[in-house]
Amino acid sequence: MNGPTTTPSAASTSTPTAAPAPAPNPGPDPSTGAGSFTDRDTDRDRAVAAAVGQGLVGPGEPVVGLLDVVGIRRSAGELRAAFEEFTAPGTPVLHAFAVKAASLVPVLRLLAQEGLGCEVASPGELALARAAGVPASRTVLDSPAKTPAELREALALGIAVNADNPEELARIDRLMSSAPTTAPVGLRVNPQIGGGTIGAMSTATETSKFGVALRDEGARDWVVQAYLERPWLTRLHAHVGSQGMPLELMAEGVRALFGLAEEINEKTQLTGRRQIETLDIGGGLPVNFTSDAVSPTFREYAEALRSAVPGLFSGRYGLVTEFGRSLLAKHGTVVARVEYAKSAGGRPIAITHAGAQVATRTVFVPDAWPIRVEAYDAQGRPKTGAPVSQDIAGPCCFAGDLVAENRLLPLLESGDHAALLDTGAYYFSTHFAYNSLPRPGIYGYAAADDGTVRFATVRTPQTLEELTAESGAAQADALRELE
Ligand SMILES: *Cc1c(COP(=O)(O)O)cnc(C)c1O
Repeated sequence: MNGPTTTPSAASTSTPTAAPAPAPNPGPDPSTGAGSFTDRDTDRDRAVAAAVGQGLVGPGEPVVGLLDVVGIRRSAGELRAAFEEFTAPGTPVLHAFAVKAASLVPVLRLLAQEGLGCEVASPGELALARAAGVPASRTVLDSPAKTPAELREALALGIAVNADNPEELARIDRLMSSAPTTAPVGLRVNPQIGGGTIGAMSTATETSKFGVALRDEGARDWVVQAYLERPWLTRLHAHVGSQGMPLELMAEGVRALFGLAEEINEKTQLTGRRQIETLDIGGGLPVNFTSDAVSPTFREYAEALRSAVPGLFSGRYGLVTEFGRSLLAKHGTVVARVEYAKSAGGRPIAITHAGAQVATRTVFVPDAWPIRVEAYDAQGRPKTGAPVSQDIAGPCCFAGDLVAENRLLPLLESGDHAALLDTGAYYFSTHFAYNSLPRPGIYGYAAADDGTVRFATVRTPQTLEELTAESGAAQADALRELE
């Protein structure tokens, strides 16, 4: 169903192409004031129509990921502006994008152009950051399971490393004595301030697997002592997200981080040095998946931080942030063809090409990760008509492969398209290879005021040759030869 020969030429080139607008921009609605989101809706609608019109999605490529490049730039600018507004002039601030949220080299390079760095948590993510040209000085390595080889490489490159636990710190001790480095090193702590509404997303619970659990007996004293013994330990890190966490609780975690840094610096000052220079406050800002409104905003988070931790922006510490979802989620859309429309038990079901392979969390944990779905017709125009309660199913061969259940939408028919909104982070860039479904193509778009939409290829659709190769095709005889 999805091979290289069916790829339309427009889909396999990064040459920008243009398409006419499906509809003129209706403009803001003066009576409701809700018009500030009208442009964004229109851009998405235009992009869907253009993607269908140009064959980026169609019978041969039945699912595609679209990224709003203008929106990504806007979010990066909003993040920078929020911190610039509150920090004392001259304070070093590095916004390191959490690569796992959108592990796509062109996205990392776009963000780098917007002044962001990368937070990486595996050799693969580090390789992507390097392929994007992100310098070591703007890269931060966090991961709870770094191998000695990874640590050695990061320290040799000068990449900032946050140690997760006492055993890892002991490994770094040994590396430091054999090959001194100027790479900044920090320790990740878990302030244990409690979790949000999604257990699997809560990093600061009593028993979280991340960092040194600060409120455990003896832990705080151990951390302070660890800094006193290591003059090169100059950073302190916490990431207390993410989705489902109230802003106040996040700020509470940063307050605990700040308090610990102050305590450590008071003690090291007695020996003549102010040791912790940089606080890495992590990412974890939640995203609104119920409408186009950006809420909370980076500015609201910065305000919450300023009131909970007034000293944070004083310039006494350099700052590192590690936002992922909040930078990308609103700017991605999955567009999938409806292959069949049917009904079961009296309920209509649209069988589409977007399921667990591109919306893994939503399919497996639907209550925690509901997403918006929009109906488009065969030409990619917004579908009108009376809303009908229906299931939006994916192509995977298990019964639970539904991206929305009992959802009110204009009735989807075969040949129509279903769009999964707010899927720019942790969705199509985080493919799940169930049923050997190929990774879909991903295209960035920019909609111009004159109604044209230009696309650039971010990731080409995976071919069946690539898919069989990574499934061991080169070793087809290996098991027979064992006998
Ligand atoms: C995943 C992760 C992030 C990014 O979290 P978001 O919720 O996407 O902002 C930042 N830091 C660390 C250490 C992470 O594991």
